[in-house]
Amino acid sequence: MFFADYHLHTNFSSDAVASPEEMVKAAVEKGLSEVAFTDHVDYDYPDDDSIFMIDYDKYFSVFEDIKNCYSDKINIKIGVEIGLQEHIKDRIEEFIAKYPFDFIIGSSHCADRMNLMKPDFFVSRTKVQAYTRFFENELANAKIYENINVYGHLDYISRYGIYEDNRLFYSDYVEILDEILKALIKTGRGIEINTSGYRYGMNTVYPQFEIIKRYKELGGEILTIGSDAHSTGYIADHFDTALNLAKEAGFGYLTSFAGRKPEFKKI
Ligand SMILES: [Zn+2]
Ligand SMILES: [Zn+2]
Repeated sequence: MFFADYHLHTNFSSDAVASPEEMVKAAVEKGLSEVAFTDHVDYDYPDDDSIFMIDYDKYFSVFEDIKNCYSDKINIKIGVEIGLQEHIKDRIEEFIAKYPFDFIIGSSHCADRMNLMKPDFFVSRTKVQAYTRFFENELANAKIYENINVYGHLDYISRYGIYEDNRLFYSDYVEILDEILKALIKTGRGIEINTSGYRYGMNTVYPQFEIIKRYKELGGEILTIGSDAHSTGYIADHFDTALNLAKEAGFGYLTSFAGRKPEFKKI
C-alpha cells in the first residue's frame, strides 16, 4: 500500500529539531514507503523576514546524498512549503523556477500581511469576519499561484483565533470555500489532509472533513496526506484517521509527485 507522509520539516526549518537523516530513519522504521520533505520558505514574513531562509544549494546536495543512501528502503521527494502572500508573487515564482522540486505546498501563514500568531488580525473582527477574510486571502492566492501542487492546511485559521470558541463551522463559509476549491481544481491543484491538529490538541485534521468531501464532489482528484511533523515522533501521526477520511470522502487514490507531476497511487 502507498503509505507516504507528504509534509515533513527538518532542522533546515528554524522551528524543527531533527536532521534530514534522523527523519528518514524514523520514517523507514514507521514503515513508510515514501516521504516528501517540505521545509519552510516564508518571504516577507511579518515581524521577522530572517527566520525562514534556507540555503537551497546545500539543501539539495544534502538530500541527494540521503536519497542515494536510502534508495532501497524508501522513496524520498524533495519539496517545499511556501508561505503564500499576494504581494510576493514574483519572488516566489522566481524561487520555484530555480530549483527542481518534486512537490510544492502553498500555505497561508499570514493574512493581510499580518502574522496570524499575533492577535492583530483578529481583534477588530468577529470570528466569522476574520475567518472569511482569511479565506479571501487564500482565494486571491489560489487564483495567482498556479504552480503549487497542493494548498496546505486550508482551514488552519481556526488554530489561531482568539475567540472563546475558535471552531470553524463549514456552513458559515460554503461560498468562499467553493470558490477556492474550484480555482484549485480548474488548474489541477489539490489539497492536503494535514494531521497536525492532533498534536495541538484540536482533535481534527486540516481541513475538516466537509471541505475534503466538497473538494472531491466538485471534481478534485489531487490529495496528499501530511503530518507536518517538526520532529521524528510525529511522522505519520494519525494517518489511519486521515486515510479513513480520504476514503469516506470518496478518494480511491492519493497522489505521489515527481518533478511536480502527479501520479495516482491506490489506497
Ligand atoms: Zn504550514
Ligand atoms: Zn508545515
